[in-house]
Amino acid sequence: RKMRKKIVAGNWKMNENLQEGIALAKEINEACAADKPNCGVIVCTPFIHLAKVAEVLDQNFVALGAENCADKEKGAYTGEVSAAMVKSTGAQYVILGHSERRQYYHETAEILKEKVQLALANGLKVIFCCGETLEEREANKQNEVVKAELDGSVFNLSAEEWKNIVLAYEPIWAIGTGKTATSDQAEEMLAYIRSIVAEKYGKEAAEDTTILYGGSCKPGNAKELFAKPDIDGGLIGGASLKCADFKAIIDAWK
Ligand code: PEP
Repeated sequence: RKMRKKIVAGNWKMNENLQEGIALAKEINEACAADKPNCGVIVCTPFIHLAKVAEVLDQNFVALGAENCADKEKGAYTGEVSAAMVKSTGAQYVILGHSERRQYYHETAEILKEKVQLALANGLKVIFCCGETLEEREANKQNEVVKAELDGSVFNLSAEEWKNIVLAYEPIWAIGTGKTATSDQAEEMLAYIRSIVAEKYGKEAAEDTTILYGGSCKPGNAKELFAKPDIDGGLIGGASLKCADFKAIIDAWK
């Protein structure tokens, strides 16, 4: 399994002003330059940080990503930022389908499908998030919910397009709550996700797909999570805002 790309990606969400963001990015870049990661590292920042952070990252080992992009190509969409604009900053990735976007900004499967298409068409790689609510897990519907999210927004992609997709399973009940899925719960879901990717794109493509776990991942639990056969790294919220914590999670791959 250890052939496919391992990734630790930070999602800053709506934190850090421009100066703080540049300082944090510099710190992460220096930490990774001094002690090279054993995995891909991605820093996903608010839009306003992208161009400046691109200047301080050595993207050979710390890649840059956005947290969102528009579902329209260009034009009269006040306040929106297109995939082409994101790409022009030097970013290589974009997070799409995060539960906060689905929940608070009403992003539907159909909207996300458009966003994914535009991101890929503009040369971005997509970190596509999926995950169930606590209520859905308690009703034992997590597999069906996650499958529907993938069916609705990314399983329409061609095999060629699929190569630019990273998946992130983030149970909503574990995001920012301090409540991590157990490594067994996470592994069970990631193995399930890999099995449905195999049904869609074949076993080889499924073996090559990077699937991350996200939800209160921190230095204290990263090693155990990453030791599981189907967990290829993490999408990190809170703990990505402190360089030492983020680096400790990156180092869980050592
Ligand atoms: C996230 O929202 O992507 C996330 C994983 O957040 P946290 O690590 O803070 O739970």
